Amino acid sequence: MPATIIDGKAVAARLRAQIARDVAELPAPPSLATLLVGEDPASAVYVANKRKLCVQAGMRDLHHHLPADIGADALGGLIDQLSADPEVTGILLQLPLPRHLDPAPLLDRIHPDKDVDGLTETSTARLVLGTPGLRPCTPAGVMVLLDDAGVPLQGAEAVVVGRSGLVGKPMAQLLLQRNATVTICHSRTRDLAAVCRRADVLIAAAGVPRMLGPEAVKPGATVIDVGIHRTDAGLCGDVDTDAVREVAGAITPVPGGVGPMTIAMLLRNTVTAAGLMTRAPAGV
Ligand code: NDP
Repeated sequence: MPATIIDGKAVAARLRAQIARDVAELPAPPSLATLLVGEDPASAVYVANKRKLCVQAGMRDLHHHLPADIGADALGGLIDQLSADPEVTGILLQLPLPRHLDPAPLLDRIHPDKDVDGLTETSTARLVLGTPGLRPCTPAGVMVLLDDAGVPLQGAEAVVVGRSGLVGKPMAQLLLQRNATVTICHSRTRDLAAVCRRADVLIAAAGVPRMLGPEAVKPGATVIDVGIHRTDAGLCGDVDTDAVREVAGAITPVPGGVGPMTIAMLLRNTVTAAGLMTRAPAGV
């Protein structure tokens, strides 16, 4: 029997509806400040989508479109200002930045309680320590999908292919916190397929189109495809979905799997940030 399809689009829509209800119950709507630097067309589309869904969920959209040649001091100064502004709930610095800007020190100027992408050093430390904080959206969205599909994690073998700070590493931490036995693979892993075949839960986040085929999948495993690639034949992920469906127990499609969850989790983080603000007023 072919694998069950995990419908991320439907889960994300339900989650966004719940977020809108949560927002309506807050004393004031949270606000999301998006910072877009330059004219990268893909980034412009991502930010426009985030802003649209933010407004749809009843939140305030505070957008800043900045020139491509903005200096680190000016951008950092704006981030400091937004971090200190009680009217701003969440701050999102859209990546990638133009070459002359080093993202890490700029991200770190975002107040950790407003870090809705969960990418600052403080948010990373909170994730690793398992203390309350804002988690990176894509891996957090994967966890919601796994829970929604009823995938048992305690004691499960989980293999994460990819070790980026954006996806692979935080993904592994979140799985570890749920008591999975986690293996992280990367470009230097020996016999990748053999390692992946151990997985009850296989997370593909390598950024290589259709890299994982049925030989890398244990029968009945849950396969989460984080990869997204634009090809002449349309969008595809890191998994050869059609072939893997014959082996796996459940699988996320591309598109319509992990992708829609990422923005839903950004909105969820913005609501969580509103809670962090009421707990302790933000200061820098
Ligand atoms: P990166 O390029 O930053 O990281 C890729 C990771 O995969 C690296 O750790 C790399 O290893 C590893 N890798 C690359 N090739 C291989 C290989 N042949 N075998 C084993 N490991 C390999 O990518 P990201 O983590 O940012 O993104 C991964 C994918 O997820 C991309 O396709 C991206 O577009 C997608 N993505 C999707 C999102 C969504 O919302 N759906 C959000 C974010 C990302 P090494 O460290 O050794 O170089």
